[in-house]
Amino acid sequence: MAVEIQQRCPNCEAQMTVLFGERDSGEELTWYLSETCSSCGYATESDGYDQLPDNLRDVELQQNGIWSLFLISLGANPAVGLKAIKAVLGLSYTHVAQIRDSIPATVKTGTLSEIQFYQRRLLEQCDELRIEARPN
Ligand SMILES: [Zn+2]
Repeated sequence: MAVEIQQRCPNCEAQMTVLFGERDSGEELTWYLSETCSSCGYATESDGYDQLPDNLRDVELQQNGIWSLFLISLGANPAVGLKAIKAVLGLSYTHVAQIRDSIPATVKTGTLSEIQFYQRRLLEQCDELRIEARPN
């Protein structure tokens, strides 16, 4: 989700608008940040792969909450579902085994955008999975 905050402009010290968020860019999760000062015209844009930088991500989590990717069931083909979870979330065999033994279970927490991104990637690899984004 996009987050908009006001910060002091490094150029003229007026309040400026800072807008940032995460995007689902297909294979990757990406983030973007734009700062614009209407007083002096100062403007910057930046972006990157993966999660937001920690200081921005903390603000996002405060504003929009921590979300969980909740696994309800593995569906008809548990081995395929577990393989997808291991690959998409980059988990160890041990961690995947712990998840398997504790279903229904939270498999990941993060921002809503992160959770929706991983949910989509998991369902692409295994549409039998029953997984939900839930507020934590
Ligand atoms: Zn300014």
